[in-house]
Amino acid sequence: MCGSEEIIAKGQMRKIPFNKPFIVGKELGNIATAVDEAHLSGNGPFTERCHRWLEQRLGCTKALLTHSCTGALEMAAMLCGIEPGDEIVMPSFTFVSTANAFVLRGGVPVFVDIRKDTLNIDETLIEQAITPRTKAIVPVHYAGAACAMDEIIEIAESCGLFVVEDAAQALLSVYKNRNLGSIGHLGCLSFHETKNIISGEGGALLINDEKFVERGEILWEKGTNRKQLFRGELDQYTWVDIGSSFLPSELVGAFLYAQLEQADKIIDARIRIFEQYFRLLRPLEEKGVIRLPNVESINNNGHMFYIITRSQKERSRLIAYLKQNGIWAVFHYVPLHSSPAGLKYGRTIGNMCVTDGLSSRVLRLPIYYEMRKEDVDTVAEHIRRFYGE
Ligand SMILES: *Cc1c(COP(=O)(O)O)cnc(C)c1O
Repeated sequence: MCGSEEIIAKGQMRKIPFNKPFIVGKELGNIATAVDEAHLSGNGPFTERCHRWLEQRLGCTKALLTHSCTGALEMAAMLCGIEPGDEIVMPSFTFVSTANAFVLRGGVPVFVDIRKDTLNIDETLIEQAITPRTKAIVPVHYAGAACAMDEIIEIAESCGLFVVEDAAQALLSVYKNRNLGSIGHLGCLSFHETKNIISGEGGALLINDEKFVERGEILWEKGTNRKQLFRGELDQYTWVDIGSSFLPSELVGAFLYAQLEQADKIIDARIRIFEQYFRLLRPLEEKGVIRLPNVESINNNGHMFYIITRSQKERSRLIAYLKQNGIWAVFHYVPLHSSPAGLKYGRTIGNMCVTDGLSSRVLRLPIYYEMRKEDVDTVAEHIRRFYGE
């Protein structure tokens, strides 16, 4: 098997994708088990096992699997009681769902600039964005690097605001020994195939405040009290609140549980790739040619390895150069504050110099569980060559 791949490698250029979905072991066996047990809709035994795993490992009060992190953010917006005109402070340098989930409830995203070192929301700019309409702050832990949670929680407490962590990229990253996603009132995880632990599409809402648990379970089950029926607390269930079908099928839970059981192994593999890139590209950073992630600020889960080029033009040329060599590198986030929907539904406080300046220069390099050491060498080698090394 090894041999045939070697022949391909000699005959033609080996392509290095940006991401590659993977299986670690029991995923397909678990799916077969779910079929045998004849429970394929949501909230079955595998979903329950995933909930227990998340609660025990992350230290949250209650975990609920969702069909996506987008769904978890939508549940969070409902639980915060967002009403038309309510404001939510967040970075502009994030994925659309961070803002969209709140806009669906009539909320107004209020965008502030990010920090140069972590590309996370600049906590020193949050206070000036707060008005009597502000309901929540949404820190996004970019690349698994923690936002300044102590400062953010302090601001939220002094102004009576909710904190919803967008921890889509941050599973098993920590801030001062606490798992990201388990620090704010609510946390949202993603198991999309581009994240560290995957189930194709998937996510979870982490509830860290007891007062949200009962309503969280109702929203999750289409606005019904069905979960109480399952627990034997009721003899029939009925429509009691708004909600939607946020729960994933057992097929997803079965796949996901196999990955969660191997989470440490998966994340260790990614951290090793991160460290290899860092070592190989550090000389270019020392020469001032590129910037690397700030390693002290990344209490790392190996989610992403990015470099920052000197200009947008240089980034485009580097993407094209890598592509010619069979390597797929991608940029991230067109900032939301200047997007058509961001302009229509959101508001911006202060200038967005760091967001505009950095988002046009961030380049994400291939990183995936099965990535070989030689492929990391190849990517780094081509970047060095691009810069004439
Ligand atoms: C991936 C991602 C999401 C959305 O996750 P889905 O599971 O695809 O809905 C939200 N926020 C951030 C920061 C992300 O990286």
